[in-house]
Amino acid sequence: MHGLMMNMPLSISALIRHADRYHGDTEIVSRLVEGGIHRYTYHDAHRRARQLANALASLGVEAPDRIGTLAWNGFRHFEIYYATSGSGAVCHTVNPRLFPEQIVYIINHAQDRYVFFDLTFLKLIEAIAPQCKAVRGWVAMTDRAHMPQGSTLDLLCYEDLINSHSDDYVWPELDENAASSLCYTSGTTGNPKGVLYSHRSTILHAYAACMPDAMQLSARDVVMPVVPMFHANAWSLPYACAMVGCKVVFPGAALDGASVYELFETEKVTMSAGVPTVWLGLLQHTQQNKLGFSTFRRTVIGGSACPPAMIRTFNEVYGIEVLHAWGMTEMSPLGTMCTFKTRHLNLSQEEKYAVMAKQGRPIYGVDMKIVDDAGRELPWDGKAFGDLLVRGPWITAEYLRGEGGSPLREDEHGLKWFPTGDVATIDADGFMQITDRSKDVIKSGGEWISSIDLENTAVAHPEVKEAAVIGVSHPKWDERPLLIVVRKPGAALTREQLLEFFQGKVAKWWMPDDVVFVDELPHTATGKILKTRLREDYKGYRLPGT
Ligand code: AMP
Repeated sequence: MHGLMMNMPLSISALIRHADRYHGDTEIVSRLVEGGIHRYTYHDAHRRARQLANALASLGVEAPDRIGTLAWNGFRHFEIYYATSGSGAVCHTVNPRLFPEQIVYIINHAQDRYVFFDLTFLKLIEAIAPQCKAVRGWVAMTDRAHMPQGSTLDLLCYEDLINSHSDDYVWPELDENAASSLCYTSGTTGNPKGVLYSHRSTILHAYAACMPDAMQLSARDVVMPVVPMFHANAWSLPYACAMVGCKVVFPGAALDGASVYELFETEKVTMSAGVPTVWLGLLQHTQQNKLGFSTFRRTVIGGSACPPAMIRTFNEVYGIEVLHAWGMTEMSPLGTMCTFKTRHLNLSQEEKYAVMAKQGRPIYGVDMKIVDDAGRELPWDGKAFGDLLVRGPWITAEYLRGEGGSPLREDEHGLKWFPTGDVATIDADGFMQITDRSKDVIKSGGEWISSIDLENTAVAHPEVKEAAVIGVSHPKWDERPLLIVVRKPGAALTREQLLEFFQGKVAKWWMPDDVVFVDELPHTATGKILKTRLREDYKGYRLPGT
């Protein structure tokens, strides 16, 4: 017997329609790449998203064509989110911080039909366009007055596209399991892999994100998503904010402390979210200039471990609650958030800080466990650590085009789990704490650096016998790469010569911060470099300039 309830597919277009109908006059404020502030409402955003949906149709875009974006957080990017997914296309947010070859790979792999970009990325677009054969057109996200002159490309103008189409558009009813958006992750080894979200996974995840023990969102909030819209859909905020109908403030390209602070104050922001590096910049600015916050009450910090000192500063100096979060692009991205249970309320302040330093407990919808090398579940005692596995309706089952084979692991009960590549403990209250990472990558300022790519570059040097790269802790970037090298017999290679060899072969911000020469590297029984030992040996290593 089926239940007798309306069967309405979960869809992204319903979010913007809801925000328009019930919060139509609520503001969306954006700092523009072209300069100045733009201000309009959910009602306007919905109208323009429908105009853009008509424009996409006139360009021949059909479901499920992929539409790429290389853009900051702003109102046009918000409209593209809704116009693409709402019409059955797939919104493919590309991370502009990647190396150009990776961006070309990603755009080609996704077979993007059109790419929308902020003017900041014009030079990048001009350089990569000839190699992106499936792209039929490049759309500059600006108005006619700001269109670049003398571009090597025949660019389309975003505002012209919008203005030449009516808002007479009815969102189609889509299968809730249809693909809605796409985000590549470099957080594994090998080529970046496509994580393909669905309408269903996006809506369920947005519901979960709003909950009181998650981001605690309400119509009374003013939310500034500092986390980029190309980083796992800005942790769902473009959807979750429409769901609750709160005011949104998009910071554009200006993510320095002073610019972010100014918007916090002028727009009366109550809540925000971002990686630790951004908050370091903001705190430096407020501390240097002896500033306080008048409306800012809580912030989600994740993407990398939040330093305990940052939690303290926010809490003790500014009275701001830090919600430490952990997740992955493959998890839409929210997995755990660190909020207290009743039993924690009577703890001493120091004990509370110890809890807050953990990555937290799963929000409903995510299940997790830690296992040993043989796949046996480990106890929740806060001490035993093992591979962290997760499952749930907003967690990846497979990468786009089956890249890398099935990532899932089946347990003894036949349940399938996604291996996160993180190593963690879980305590008796279900609070998870990351202790290490089994995947071979380094996270610097919230962005991935592939240690394997750096090692391959190092061993290409004729005087290098063997090389390993590990992440060591850094006060600003969380982790930076340290290169550990065994020279060939008789070689006199220096640190400077080796770093010089890296020039032009890797992105500037991937350059190892330091080089250590050793006689030999530790290996596993199967001959792999024993990274866990190296991480242990170089735990307290001080990088130059720190
Ligand atoms: P991404 O897919 O780029 O969001 O990266 C996800 C990965 O970032 C996770 O698997 C972790 O390795 C790391 N990560 C995310 N949040 C945290 C956190 N709060 N603490 C420690 N590591 C984190």
